[in-house]
Amino acid sequence: MSLAHRVKPWIAALEPYKPGKPIEELEREFGISGAIKLASNENPLGPSPRAIEAVRRALDDVHRYPDAASFALRSKLVEKLGVAPDQLVFGCGADEILELVAKAFLGPGDEAVFAWPSFAMYPIVTKGMGATPVAIPLDAALVHDLDAMAAAVGERTRVVMVCNPNNPTGTSVGAAAFDRFAASLPDDVLLLIDEAYVDFARRPDFPDSLGWVARRPGTLVVRTFSKIAGLAGLRVGFGIGDAELIGYLERARHPFNVNLLAEAAAVAALDDHDHLDRTVRQNAAGIDFLRRELAALGIETWPSEANFLLAKPGPGTYERLLREGIIVRPLGGFGMPDHVRITIGLPEENERLVKALRRLVEEERR
Ligand SMILES: *Cc1c(COP(=O)(O)O)cnc(C)c1O
Repeated sequence: MSLAHRVKPWIAALEPYKPGKPIEELEREFGISGAIKLASNENPLGPSPRAIEAVRRALDDVHRYPDAASFALRSKLVEKLGVAPDQLVFGCGADEILELVAKAFLGPGDEAVFAWPSFAMYPIVTKGMGATPVAIPLDAALVHDLDAMAAAVGERTRVVMVCNPNNPTGTSVGAAAFDRFAASLPDDVLLLIDEAYVDFARRPDFPDSLGWVARRPGTLVVRTFSKIAGLAGLRVGFGIGDAELIGYLERARHPFNVNLLAEAAAVAALDDHDHLDRTVRQNAAGIDFLRRELAALGIETWPSEANFLLAKPGPGTYERLLREGIIVRPLGGFGMPDHVRITIGLPEENERLVKALRRLVEEERR
């Protein structure tokens, strides 16, 4: 008996998320070793040593359920962000926060507006609830076209997602444009601001998203420990909003969604200012280095406020870099076969990438 006529049609139609290629898989396929991965925006410095130590200590307690209220992590963030305890919701990665929003606010007939190309999970969580994605193309500079997004908001719009800085382009919107956009939205549309990369942003006019949370009910800022804190493998992210909105997401949430080790690691990571500072500094230097070196090779890149770089080295580059033992992110799935997304690595990894690209460029000239 097939269940093909029973499965929800919007689930049957979903295309699963394609993660970056694991290093082990590449080494197996090509029979090589020493490959590097600059594909999933992970922290090249690894996790904070203090987070590792906290996980070791917490291991003795894994026969217990985790704290369903994530009290320790909540208290830390209350202090750091200046919000009330009931303004925070935690998830198994920021991905789960997106999923909770979809579960609570989207169903058949509803629309979610977001930019495109942007984070691949937005259409997945939207379609996953039977709702309709409304994807608005980025402008010519590959920045969110906020005027076009505002114009796309209508009767059926329930959620608007703004990814800032934007994945996979690294581009961002500034406070003036963002404030105008946020002020124009109807009160009963949920404004989700995905700030997975906010800690890497350098532009002085970066929007004050928490200011919007304070003055516009129905605003949710989403952040994660996967990128800046180097805890992608432990899965912990969070949302910041007004107490009413957070209350709905809490109802949609399963009680033990943030595991015991993840919470311990996140608390310790927040205290490791040295690790966070080094991560930010090394990333900024890496972006400046790679933009300069790629420009010298005639490869176009875009300004980035994140921990990765959008580059346009031409078609086939992803596959050719794989043969050099370097995994970047292909963007053919976004209709950008000439572009790749490069995660900023350690200085020696960035240099290895530049050398490989130089070889590819020289081969092409021959
Ligand atoms: C990585 C990422 C996330 C999700 O991160 P988690 O690992 O699920 O916490 C969310 N949004 C954007 C834009 C991302 O790039």
